[in-house]
Amino acid sequence: QYILAIETSCDETAVAIVKNETELITNIVASQIESHKRFGGVVPEIASRHHIEQMTITLEEALDDAGMTLDDMDAIAVTEGPGLVGALLVGVNAAKSIAFAKQKPLVGVHHIAGHIYANRLEKEFEFPLLSLVVSGGHTELVLMREHGSFEIIGETRDDAAGEAYDKVARTLKLPYPGGPQIDRLAQEGEETIDFPRAWLEDGSYDFSFSGLKSAVINRLHKANQRDEYLKPEDVAASFQASVVDVLSTKAFRAAEEYGVKQMIVAGGVAANKGLRAALQKKFKDSKTELLIPPLHLCTDNAAMIAAAGAVAYNQGHRAGWDLNANPGLDLELFGARKK
Ligand code: ATP
Ligand code: MG
Ligand code: FE
Repeated sequence: QYILAIETSCDETAVAIVKNETELITNIVASQIESHKRFGGVVPEIASRHHIEQMTITLEEALDDAGMTLDDMDAIAVTEGPGLVGALLVGVNAAKSIAFAKQKPLVGVHHIAGHIYANRLEKEFEFPLLSLVVSGGHTELVLMREHGSFEIIGETRDDAAGEAYDKVARTLKLPYPGGPQIDRLAQEGEETIDFPRAWLEDGSYDFSFSGLKSAVINRLHKANQRDEYLKPEDVAASFQASVVDVLSTKAFRAAEEYGVKQMIVAGGVAANKGLRAALQKKFKDSKTELLIPPLHLCTDNAAMIAAAGAVAYNQGHRAGWDLNANPGLDLELFGARKK
């Protein structure tokens, strides 16, 4: 069984093919980072136009790379949401056109379900499992008791982890996207500044990063006024220590409380060296197996959409010709919706 998937929710145009739910055949990603860099972030209108230009080229490249044609596919999966509406629409319309022309079933996929299922291309899932989703727009702990079912046990109350990274990076005048830049600097610095940790109420699995972001901005501002020099490496290391401490501690506590077989890390911030190391240390002697995806499956790609789409397809999910981009698509409702 072959599933072709399309992902255009943000700033990468991506097409992938997955065989029998878990075998990656091809994974092509056309990134637009260079076009957005000079604006310091993703410009939605530019993203949509790039997707239109890149869609057909990326599709052809994926089919060429796989040595396959659209006729070989069993279904077409596409990211339906969440994301930028104009960006999502390009992928959704491409998928609908292919499915209609080739008379193939069409499946809409939740982008975050995709980030989670990226891990299944590496290792089979064992339930119950928890997923720490840390991306540009999301920070949440997701409990899965079976395939395709998602229960959010905690989430950010303000900024997402990746968003905090990007905003702090901008304050440090680092180029977009800032996450990898801060990560790189943090490796060279030391935790010399004691930034706050947002633990929230006892037992809460929610997160909050806006207070930390403000603390970093205020500290830099104060240093500036006093003509005090703060090494950017140390600011990065101190900021990263706070983020990683909260994420890894809450993830570990949740894994213990829910007695899960696996802890999965998902989303762009899963690429973070500090977070990967802290989680590996925490879970070293735990009964819970820690799964961290390889770097190319952390940030946006279509392989993850094919992996989640294959499961949705085999569970009976089908989209109609009225499939529309849904920028606010809910993860739990997506899982609950079968046919
Ligand atoms: P979402 O998945 O929530 O819709 P998105 O698709 O924009 O948002 P991703 O592509 O999953 O987000 O991840 C991008 C984010 O990951 C950016 O905020 C980026 O700064 C961050 N990121 C990437 N690599 C690293 C890293 N090494 N350390 C920290 N953050 C990183
Ligand atoms: Mg991106
Ligand atoms: Fe993403």
